[in-house]
Amino acid sequence: MGIHPAEAEDPGPFEEIERLAFEPGVCAIGETGLELRPGAPPLELQRELLASHAGLASDLDLPLVCHSRGAEAEIVEALGALDPPGAVLHCYTGPDGPALEAASRGWFIGFSGAVTFRRSETLRQTLAALPRSSVLVETDSPFMSPEPVRGRTCEPAFVMHTARAVAAAWGMPFGEACSILAANSERAFRQGASARPSVIYLLDGRAYVNLTGICGNSCRFCIRNTEDGLGGYLLAHGGGEPSEERVLSGISRLPRRGLSEMVFCGYGEPTSRLALLRRAAGLARSLGWRLRLNTNGLALSSFGQDEVLEVVRLFDSVSISLNAWDDASYSGICRPSVPGAWESLLAFVRLAVSAGPRVRLTAVAWEGVEMGRVRAVAEGLGLPLVTRGGA
Ligand code: SF4
Repeated sequence: MGIHPAEAEDPGPFEEIERLAFEPGVCAIGETGLELRPGAPPLELQRELLASHAGLASDLDLPLVCHSRGAEAEIVEALGALDPPGAVLHCYTGPDGPALEAASRGWFIGFSGAVTFRRSETLRQTLAALPRSSVLVETDSPFMSPEPVRGRTCEPAFVMHTARAVAAAWGMPFGEACSILAANSERAFRQGASARPSVIYLLDGRAYVNLTGICGNSCRFCIRNTEDGLGGYLLAHGGGEPSEERVLSGISRLPRRGLSEMVFCGYGEPTSRLALLRRAAGLARSLGWRLRLNTNGLALSSFGQDEVLEVVRLFDSVSISLNAWDDASYSGICRPSVPGAWESLLAFVRLAVSAGPRVRLTAVAWEGVEMGRVRAVAEGLGLPLVTRGGA
């Protein structure tokens, strides 16, 4: 997601790029970059636009895809100072020095159909001199169609011809080269085994914060049992937790326009990281967001009442998962890892009501959940119950 440097004189509002960067499937920021061709926008404006992209890439922890035209040394130098979390020198046609420097920094060099052209012997030598782990192939579609389809509108299928040129430069069978190139692409764009979950995702006009994969419960209906994510986003944390920096920088970056509220929810229990939840919700509040907490209501099992109260007060509304009607049913359905979970849940409900936010209870319509009895508990507490289908 980005604005080409050729548009640097009139790039439009960068906020559009910031907003779109949170859509599912966005795996890099760019293409951005520098070009020194005659008639190109002033270099200073291009550098400013490049820096905006690099800042966004850093805040969202995404690689930066960089265009360079006659400015390969300049782009590598600029990237050295901007220090993005990853970089791809896209459609590389420059000399070997900047490419080797980029590879030494762990960045990737993308070769398009240009590497197949008869007169591109020097470029093929550059390719051969690079560590194989740094090489990508790409289409640059609709341009740069490789031999033997040069001159036609480039399309993704043609990348196999570029991959053949790479295999020839490496002196290895085509299939072996493809395996290396595919693995490189997965690392460059964090796909497959290198994939990372989204920390912020957008659904139905709301922003959701996926703070943690930790949860003390093991509910029978939990979506984590069956799906890695939803809405096109990968959300399962796979054992790792997003850093505080990544959570806070994501919240800072997301424009509020068109989004009704920010919900702390995700693929785990947000109060499991109570200190981070407090900081993240405090930041979002200072940025003007309406805030909702979706919780299993077990924070008092792990944290003190004052600590929990301070966090709950940051929210405009709190949704608490009930799903049961007594201690035994809660143990059977939600399978908590802490003793006294049902009583702790009820204590949290009372605390949330006293703290001021709008409180509602939720229950999943799942085999074994006797909704009439759950509803009676909600009525006894004087709170609305929202039911939804199971995973
Ligand atoms: S409380 Fe929520 S995240 Fe935790 S196991 Fe139950 S459904 Fe899943």
